[in-house]
Amino acid sequence: PSPASNGGENCCVKVALHIRPLIADERAQGCKDCVTVVSGKPQVQIGTHAFTFDHVYGSSGTPSSAMFEECIAPLVDGLFQGYNATVLAYGQTGSGKTYTMGTGFKDGCQMGIIPQVMNVLFSKIETLKHQIEFQLHVSFIEILKEEVRDLLDPTTLNKSDTANGHGGKVNLPGKPPIQIRETSNGVITLAGSTEVSVSTFKEMATCLEQGSLSRATGSTNMNNQSRYITDLTISISSRSHAIFTITLEQMRKLNPVFPGDSNPNDSMNEEYLCAKLHLVDLAGSERAKRTGSDGMRFKEGVHINKGLLALGNVISALGDDKRRKEGVHVPYRDSKLTRLLQDSLGGNSRTVMIACISPADINAEETLNTLKYANRAR
Ligand code: ADP
Ligand code: MG
Repeated sequence: PSPASNGGENCCVKVALHIRPLIADERAQGCKDCVTVVSGKPQVQIGTHAFTFDHVYGSSGTPSSAMFEECIAPLVDGLFQGYNATVLAYGQTGSGKTYTMGTGFKDGCQMGIIPQVMNVLFSKIETLKHQIEFQLHVSFIEILKEEVRDLLDPTTLNKSDTANGHGGKVNLPGKPPIQIRETSNGVITLAGSTEVSVSTFKEMATCLEQGSLSRATGSTNMNNQSRYITDLTISISSRSHAIFTITLEQMRKLNPVFPGDSNPNDSMNEEYLCAKLHLVDLAGSERAKRTGSDGMRFKEGVHINKGLLALGNVISALGDDKRRKEGVHVPYRDSKLTRLLQDSLGGNSRTVMIACISPADINAEETLNTLKYANRAR
């Protein structure tokens, strides 16, 4: 298909709000629900403020189960038509980003967006495989302190030292850092990160699970003071952006690629489509002020704000139709996060931001910040 149209939609970024229920911890503290969904509208009120989004899910809004069909399934369809897409979960730590995205996937538990994407993807492939040859790859990385880390690195994956209870993964010295590159036709690649070829749900799920584990245990050279380590590893996973990327390649079987015919630049090009879907569990949006006192963690906070700040600027530049037509500069290069997502944010690609909030009154200040950020993205 011609990538000149955008599926008939004029806005390339959709924003959905997801309100998780009060959790046991909040109820135990006597928290009250301070977010009101305006009946029949994708609108919420908090205090005297009102915000409208493309969709509102959870609480008394549309049930969360509708989110996948309305927001995510169209992106999976687009992937089969050759359109790149990005799903971003934004919000303060504890607001439900990982739960909603499914980045904390454990075998047997199939909640969250990523496992549902995998289900749809493999069932579509099953129905089309007689006409089209598919190849799927996944990568799973995190961005921490403006550095890209490979969550599927085979040299560290199997070396998790479970004996000490907190997996001492250490990036090997001498291993070159992962670099974000752009090809001459604008395709962004990650040089040095692991791309795993998968052909079943199970294989993809294993990647998700192993990468999640690697994210949770962190890569820092840590000593054995376990209380401190627990504290630190929790803070690392909430301060990094985790990006699970699915790349779908399609080749028409009408013109099979013969063995030995491995030139990707020949006439087979016409029969070839490649698109990727980034599923991003963003770093916690709260400011660094509330966390620890040591310099290292503060530095992480500063860098992560840089990514979220750049993302906000990129998305608001993209959403501004008038500025876009005037060819305004979109500041992709201001952070690793936006640079990495460059070919899948804007242009012909589709983006859904899911702003996650807690309904609890103790979180009202951060919730308001999230609503303002998400509102600016529209
Ligand atoms: P984040 O990734 O934003 O830090 P989590 O996804 O870890 O937040 O969620 C924080 C807590 O809230 C977890 O205990 C999680 O199980 C719970 N939670 C999040 N979303 C929901 C939901 N939709 N329904 C029930 N519990 C949820
Ligand atoms: Mg999380």
